[in-house]
Amino acid sequence: MYFELDEAVRDNPELSMLKTELHKFARDVMRPVAKELDEMKPEEVSAPGSPYFKVMKQMKQNGFHRILVAEEFGGELVGPEAYCIFFEELGWGSMGLATALGVDLLPSAVMSLVGSPEVIDEVLRPWMEDCDNNYRGCWSVMDPDRGSDYITAMVESDPEYLGTKGFCRADRDGDGWIINGVKSYWTSSAPCANWALTHPLVPPHESPMDLGAAVVPLDLPGVTVARGIDKLGTRDVPQGEIVFENVRIPGHYMLAAVPEMTAYMIRMILSCTSCAIAGMSIGLARAAYEEALRYTHERIQGGRPIAEHQLTRHRLYLMSEKLETARYFTRAVTKNVYDEIFVKRTFLQSTPHALMAQAYAKQRAFEIASEALQLFGGSGIMKETLVERLFRDARCVMIEDGTVEILGLASIDEALLEGTYTWD
Ligand SMILES: Cc1cc2nc3c(=O)[nH]c(=O)nc-3n(C[C@H](O)[C@H](O)[C@H](O)COP(=O)(O)OP(=O)(O)OC[C@H]3O[C@@H](n4cnc5c(N)ncnc54)[C@H](O)[C@@H]3O)c2cc1C
Repeated sequence: MYFELDEAVRDNPELSMLKTELHKFARDVMRPVAKELDEMKPEEVSAPGSPYFKVMKQMKQNGFHRILVAEEFGGELVGPEAYCIFFEELGWGSMGLATALGVDLLPSAVMSLVGSPEVIDEVLRPWMEDCDNNYRGCWSVMDPDRGSDYITAMVESDPEYLGTKGFCRADRDGDGWIINGVKSYWTSSAPCANWALTHPLVPPHESPMDLGAAVVPLDLPGVTVARGIDKLGTRDVPQGEIVFENVRIPGHYMLAAVPEMTAYMIRMILSCTSCAIAGMSIGLARAAYEEALRYTHERIQGGRPIAEHQLTRHRLYLMSEKLETARYFTRAVTKNVYDEIFVKRTFLQSTPHALMAQAYAKQRAFEIASEALQLFGGSGIMKETLVERLFRDARCVMIEDGTVEILGLASIDEALLEGTYTWD
């Protein structure tokens, strides 16, 4: 375990205890299951009874699914420091399974912030009470023709020029909505989920930013979910396409259908996911760093453990510098995002900083995982070493929730739009 620089965390017994408990869960439950799932075929990962469901059920029994919902709706808001600790420890255990929890949190978090009393009573409260993993969420955003454009459209004054409006749309049908279209095969957890938070185009269906936000039960007639794609990394969280064919949802499942409101909501969601993914990336980076520390103290070359060579110590230093800067920048950003969204409910969080924290932490995690593998030499490419999987996972994360390039671009565009930076 690390020396905790932040006194607010180090001297807080509750946070220290939370960290210890989460670390135990990550080490004893997540790590072995992640290894097992990594070696399975995608259809085996998402098959009923797979270890994926067992670990998700344990997360529910521990109440992890309540951390973004206020007490008044049956949740247990944990605060920004705990939010960072959560995702760092779970990311240390497994990037894929931490992502699975992250996407499961989103439908309920958004329902708690903007849902009607009807949807809160009918869906959110039983979701919060669930300890058997009966409610399994995912977040399907991207369309087959629309990936990065979802993020860049958010900061375009004239998003029409992008041309891509996506394949998924919702039309009014009496007091409900009919959804048609496809959400692309990247949706994390979709093959195992039974609820999706999704964003179809809503009337007037003209601009790529005419987006709504709806919760959709995936067992409704007309919904087809693919079994899962075979992929390079984060193999312990299945990803799959969702097809909607004339799927009718009641009006209260559409949480937002006014494009101006959805634009705020997408910024809010991306800010939350950015902090979570930055936290998970720090956990992954720490796991890789610890492996590198251990191996360089065990492996003897040049007559002594390689950690005793000056060159190696400098490489270890550079890894720790990246890890520490990513961690404390992410914590500062998360404090702002969490407080503005969940405590004050102003939705005035600094989205440019959130996107920057995500891009920064993901890049540092990839560099640290890559350097850890390099320090392992030939042993690093063997399937049986943890660094091999961490490297593959870190590579995938550079694309998850927005590529690092597009997150950076959106961060600076949004900062210029908001006037985040000025000059004398
Ligand atoms: C592990 C993982 C988990 C994911 N989970 C989910 C999920 O739960 N739900 C979901 O909806 N999606 C999910 N995704 C999808 C992810 O958000 C997209 O893959 C990502 O946003 C990139 O979109 P794309 O794949 O369509 O790539 P594209 O947008 O086609 O980008 C291709 C390349 O072009 C570059 N590029 C794009 N636009 C521009 C531009 N304007 N200028 C210059 N360069 C540009 C990009 O940086 C990239 O290098 C996940 C992806 C991964 C890898």
